[in-house]
Amino acid sequence: MSAIHLRGVVLPSAEHRDLWVRDGKVTFEAIPGAETVATGWILPGLVDLHCHVGLDANGAVPDDVAEEQAITDRDTGVVLIRDAGSPADTRWIDERDDLPRIIRAGRHIARTKRYTRNFGWEIEPEDLVAYVEREARKGDGWVKLVGDWIDRDKGDLGPCWPQHVLEPAIARAHELGARVTAHVFGEDALPDLLAAGIDGIEHGTGVSADNIALMAERGVSLVPTLINIANFPTFAEQGSAKFPAYAAHMRALHERRYETVHTAYEAGVPVFAGTDAGGVMPHGLIAQEVLELVAAGIPAPDAVAAASWKARAYLLGGTGLLEEGSVADICVYADDPRVDPGTLLDPARVIMRGRVVR
Ligand SMILES: [Zn+2]
Repeated sequence: MSAIHLRGVVLPSAEHRDLWVRDGKVTFEAIPGAETVATGWILPGLVDLHCHVGLDANGAVPDDVAEEQAITDRDTGVVLIRDAGSPADTRWIDERDDLPRIIRAGRHIARTKRYTRNFGWEIEPEDLVAYVEREARKGDGWVKLVGDWIDRDKGDLGPCWPQHVLEPAIARAHELGARVTAHVFGEDALPDLLAAGIDGIEHGTGVSADNIALMAERGVSLVPTLINIANFPTFAEQGSAKFPAYAAHMRALHERRYETVHTAYEAGVPVFAGTDAGGVMPHGLIAQEVLELVAAGIPAPDAVAAASWKARAYLLGGTGLLEEGSVADICVYADDPRVDPGTLLDPARVIMRGRVVR
């Protein structure tokens, strides 16, 4: 791969710089003869922290469909994905240098008949530790639990797991070097998950002030997936005849979604951008999610960071910045995304591991 050159304002430091890429790595030492491929606002490559590759509304998809999903994400600037649960084996993507890097959470672990059909393992509490262990070994450092779902006997959202199994399950994942995150819509599942040492909360529409204080103190992340929470009124409508309490609950959670996210952000909870692509959501909407974080009241520079350097640091360690020797995952924009986050909708260039892909 021949060397390339970029010139512009490197974020978040906002220095005007020349930047070169050779062998997939960033360097600030001039490489004579390198072709200039972009000028503009230069951002560490985007991350979708809640995405499902290989999944659609009905379950696992064939490889060619998973490939299309990954390409759609990539072309919007997403070069790194945390896959928040997929029944498909997408290991083949690791061999492809033209597709985003995927950090997997294995397959969702859900309670029997209490999740979307064909997505996750559906098990009972006594098997939770064993399944967490299995998915921790299969994944790339993450395990995904479905923490709450509609409890049809109650007619409302309810926790899926008792405290006495959550603690050993999460402890086992940690022993194996994996972090654990959980899908949670409502309020009731959160105290037990947090007490058991959960590392992340997905959606988190029900987090209370007490939960938020604990999350901030322990650095428990929140990935609100606001573009998917926008579907709550539809979910409520679908369930309203049979489960009126559930429908009212979903509407209330939706109603206060921005306030919830803003309160968490203000308290210092690490909030990240995730689209939830691959279930009911289409792929390629990372910029729309950043705009939703801004709509929730997160200042644009921090909303951009939540999909870029901060998310990279959270997933991979390190600073997440474009530094001498860092992986050349780079997005270039015509305008300053910290001032106009809408520019994220149209990347001028996407460079993935040193390769120009758009
Ligand atoms: Zn999801």
